Amino acid sequence: AKRHGRNVARLFDESIDEEIRIRRRIEANLSQAIARDELGMTFQPIVANDTFEVVGFEALLRWTEESGPISPGVFIPIAEESNLIHELGDWVLAKSLEVLKEWPGQYVSVNFSPRQFRRHNFVGYVMEQVLRAGIAPQRLQIEITETAIFDDAERAAETLYRLRQMGFRIALDDFGTGYSSLYNIRKFALDSLKIDRGFIEGMGRERESAAIVHSIIHLGRALGLGVIAEGVETEMQVAMLRAAGASHLQGYLFSHPVNADGARALAHAGIIH
Ligand code: C2E
Ligand code: CA
Ligand code: CA
Ligand code: CA
Repeated sequence: AKRHGRNVARLFDESIDEEIRIRRRIEANLSQAIARDELGMTFQPIVANDTFEVVGFEALLRWTEESGPISPGVFIPIAEESNLIHELGDWVLAKSLEVLKEWPGQYVSVNFSPRQFRRHNFVGYVMEQVLRAGIAPQRLQIEITETAIFDDAERAAETLYRLRQMGFRIALDDFGTGYSSLYNIRKFALDSLKIDRGFIEGMGRERESAAIVHSIIHLGRALGLGVIAEGVETEMQVAMLRAAGASHLQGYLFSHPVNADGARALAHAGIIH
């Protein structure tokens, strides 16, 4: 048994080593990804629940390294631990605002990591980018997670208030997966809650997920907020989300994330059938 334990410990060490190696490689290559032109933006439509009118697009970053694509779910957290996130984030925002100009009126919904959101003078930074691009603040939705705002709630509330005053839209992403206290939520100037895909996915299977989805929609409506359901893949989910009163939907059923050309076409079509 002792021997077995030692082997397990060694395997464990090796997998940690492997993880550290991968992490180092990603960090090293990611810092050159922009210069090497390996990054790309994709856009996924967000539609109104009743009409399927395309009201906006979420901007989702893609990185194709020499050896193939790497998921943002993997490299974003690594970038987030270093200053790389700022460089990446600057690129994402600039690109998104550029592509947005080709759409008739839709907004672009950009993900900002906690570290970006907490950076010194975030409000001034976003305003400057939007002014430089010649775009109305109403056409930029800022997606942040609970993690970004609940650590220093006081300061986050102030930042959100100022952003909202300037006309930006604010969506609280992955709602329900973090540690937001419902007590705090009313202090934040928000426009929408985004229900995490995990709950939508479980909705048809488990009573618990369905109950959570209903509660989030109910809460959002009671607070006068929009509620965006992400990861919608089936007609059945649409029917349930309609009945529950979600205001907006996003997911593969409507469209996968597409490149700038694809987004322009969808934006001009204006509706998804
Ligand atoms: P997220 O913000 O929750 O984005 C939604 C994710 O769900 C995206 O994954 C999207 O492609 C995927 N998705 C959308 N509809 C469906 C569906 O119907 N079914 C399934 N199975 N998946 C769907 P993606 O693009 O891999 O991004 C993963 C995460 O990486 C994002 O989660 C976000 O947290 C982060 N991320 C992506 N781009 C950026 C970025 O530019 N900046 C920052 N800070 N984070 C980003
Ligand atoms: Ca998001
Ligand atoms: Ca999300
Ligand atoms: Ca999510």
